[in-house]
Amino acid sequence: MIRRVDLRGRVAAGEVTDLQAEVNALVPRAVFDVEKALDVVRPICLDVRHRGLEAIRESGEKFDHVRVEDIRVPAHALKTALEELDPVVRSAFEESIRRVREVSQDELTTDIASEPAPGGRVTQRFVPVQRVGLYVPGGRAPLASSVVMNVVPAQVAGVPSLAVASPPQKDFGGLPHPTVLAVCALLGIDEVYAMGGAQAIAGFAYGFDGCRKVNLITGPGNIYVVAAKRFLLGEVGIDSEAGPTEIAILADDSADPKHVAADLISQAEHDPMAASVLVTPSEALAAAVEAELPTQVAQTKHSERVTEALTGQQSAVVLVDDLDQGTAVVDAYAAEHLEIQTVDAEERAGLITNAGAIFVGGWSPVSLGDYCAGSNHVLPTAGCACHSSGLSVRSFLKAVHVVNYSRDALHEVAGHVLALAHAEDLPAHGAAVSARFPGEH
Ligand code: NAD
Repeated sequence: MIRRVDLRGRVAAGEVTDLQAEVNALVPRAVFDVEKALDVVRPICLDVRHRGLEAIRESGEKFDHVRVEDIRVPAHALKTALEELDPVVRSAFEESIRRVREVSQDELTTDIASEPAPGGRVTQRFVPVQRVGLYVPGGRAPLASSVVMNVVPAQVAGVPSLAVASPPQKDFGGLPHPTVLAVCALLGIDEVYAMGGAQAIAGFAYGFDGCRKVNLITGPGNIYVVAAKRFLLGEVGIDSEAGPTEIAILADDSADPKHVAADLISQAEHDPMAASVLVTPSEALAAAVEAELPTQVAQTKHSERVTEALTGQQSAVVLVDDLDQGTAVVDAYAAEHLEIQTVDAEERAGLITNAGAIFVGGWSPVSLGDYCAGSNHVLPTAGCACHSSGLSVRSFLKAVHVVNYSRDALHEVAGHVLALAHAEDLPAHGAAVSARFPGEH
């Protein structure tokens, strides 16, 4: 049910000159045509810009099949959702929150002071973004865990104003899913909107009656959410393009094929566009995983969605010459999630430069990171791990240089400033310094 791709011998034979291009061609991402989606979301976003709240209501009615009059979720609905949350689930969320909070606190960056010359001080101050809109997906599954992953690092960073948006659910009277509301309440978030997709992103970016414009939007979502974030970049800041999920697994004979198959399925469950890729030099492991998949897929609840993802062009078992080549292949692929299940997993993880998050060894499955590792599950997809990071406390902080020079420190470097201003033919730049030392330059 999953494609097999054989790379063995091809690199040595000189057939592959650019491994990254080859990997992208052999295991292309699902047809994730953001350009096409942009054609869909552009009018939605512009409509929200011009008509505000009513445009959000109409798009919700069209795409979520429910008309919502009060887009802002009332306080009593949040309170009730928390009261009605299953205590076992509540306790699991509390533990997830505790772990993400502890990791976020450890990652908090303190100000960095430097003195490149006596009396010349440059301090890098980290200040929180003042208002953030957090998107929590709710199309296929109510991703209440995404509330934790967005809100906790933002709170630890000290963001003073946080708003959450999640699609209205027809089955819950147009409110977001009750578990999403309960986790918002658990985290003390009282500004929650029942809006999803591009209309939610545009609502946050432009603001609308009853909702102030935000400075930054974070959170994962489907292709329409990703396209809207791209369209509105500049109007607001965005975290990264966290689209349909991906798992790559680098494994050898030491891996358990049942576990490998389960992990491939776990991410395929998210989306028919999800990518599940196994890279291995072991013919025996490849065959065992291929044999195991149909059995486990038949038993899983969302088998239709999983089958679509596993049989898509984006999923494959890739056979490589050896683990070193496998390491180069997964690095070139730049997966959102990379599991390494090899005898030397820890050392091999140190060789990886491109991955949203790395899961080391047989006891660190991606599902752990989705919920309860303490790491963040909002991660760059579609190869963006080459240049972007997952969500963390740093996503919510801006670095500001504070420059503070004494008279003597400026005097000491004035000649260099004047020389550079002259070289760039910007004499007024030089004059701003020489005016402070009359008669000298
Ligand atoms: P979603 O909330 O992202 O999208 C639902 C919204 O899409 C709806 O509210 C609707 O407004 C809009 N929509 C649906 N069909 C539309 C259409 N034809 N035209 C315009 N708008 C339309 O929920 P989802 O669909 O379940 O997707 C969640 C995604 O988030 C999955 O792809 C999952 O893999 C991804 N995800 C990614 C990460 C990450 O870090 N990369 C983490 C968690 C989830």
